[in-house]
Amino acid sequence: MNNLFSTNLIHASKHDDGTGTVTTPIYLSSTYSQKTPGLVPGKNDPNSFGNGWLYSRLLNPTRGSLEKTLATLEYAKYAVTFSSGMATLNAIISILDINDHILCSDDAYGGTQYYMNNYVSNKFNMVDMTNLELLEKNIHKNTKLIWIESITNPLLKIPNIKNISKLAKKYNLILVVDSTFMSPYLQNPIKLGADIVVHSITKYINGHSDLIMGAAITNSNDIYLKLRNSSIYLGAVPSAFDSYLVLRGLKTLEVRMDKQCQNAINIANYLNNHPKIQKIIYPGLKSHPQYELAKLQQHKFGAMISFYINDNPIKFLEKLKIFTLAVSLGAVESLAECPFLMTHANVSPKDCEKLNININLIRLSIGIENVQDLIDDLKQALE
Ligand SMILES: *Cc1c(COP(=O)(O)O)cnc(C)c1O
Repeated sequence: MNNLFSTNLIHASKHDDGTGTVTTPIYLSSTYSQKTPGLVPGKNDPNSFGNGWLYSRLLNPTRGSLEKTLATLEYAKYAVTFSSGMATLNAIISILDINDHILCSDDAYGGTQYYMNNYVSNKFNMVDMTNLELLEKNIHKNTKLIWIESITNPLLKIPNIKNISKLAKKYNLILVVDSTFMSPYLQNPIKLGADIVVHSITKYINGHSDLIMGAAITNSNDIYLKLRNSSIYLGAVPSAFDSYLVLRGLKTLEVRMDKQCQNAINIANYLNNHPKIQKIIYPGLKSHPQYELAKLQQHKFGAMISFYINDNPIKFLEKLKIFTLAVSLGAVESLAECPFLMTHANVSPKDCEKLNININLIRLSIGIENVQDLIDDLKQALE
């Protein structure tokens, strides 16, 4: 198979069970029969990564087909899926030793920050990952892992993955990139030197707001085996049915995101000139501090827009008719939210203030609706 992304999107999940099926079937069986004790079927199936089918918490053909597809799309050898993005984070942290020190992006996803602050026994520091000097200063003797988000949520900051990966290699650290906001279509961190790519599949990859799932993707055999063991023994595996839904949703990733990104550019340009918008953050605008880096590192600018409103943010959100007032992002319908009151409500007010996440900050996830309808909706809500 060639390496064209669009073709891989449609064909990488190709599944052969002898029937000629065009799509990957939903394999609901929890266990698999053996001809003789210890001889598990499916060892030759590429979806089982050579391990065969024994019991569905370990490996499942539908999930395997999804994992193989995700690995292909990120130009990597291995992918392990989990029942949520959060379970993926938990599994990755579980491969560390207790004395390993972690460096984490200071404006990471709200759940990631809460998890670090409340559930991680390892010592960690939160760092602005767009400041390479500061990052290097924070590397200790026992630092083992750097967790970055690119682009970040909700401030859409863009750390330089290539430069951070050079630093990670110099100090022998594992670089994890949460690439949820980009999807494998807009950015491929493994190509830029990352060791593990994380996705909340819930967002762009599934794209239809109807399930929760996460994935970790890597080229390292050692990391893969550890993550697979964590998935098996921590047990947060996704179902065959959800895996099927993702395989189905994933096929339109490129066509969905092309429209989402185009809609986002038009909306960003509209908001950029609006008197009630104090400041707009969108990587495709020249005013974005990492605009040049975005052009290099990403295939497109993405479909997330944040802005500070010079008006009552709650009234604005309540007046929206097409934009749905809801958390989450990346699906076909446009969503609007106030991070301070919604996605980041469990981040301490002090940390929010430090990051400039206040009640006037609005975050939009742009969908695939008619762009003029979306602009008209924003216009009437801003009146
Ligand atoms: C949503 C999200 C997560 C968490 O994923 P879940 O699937 O909700 O568990 C992690 N990182 C980012 C950037 C997210 O947007």
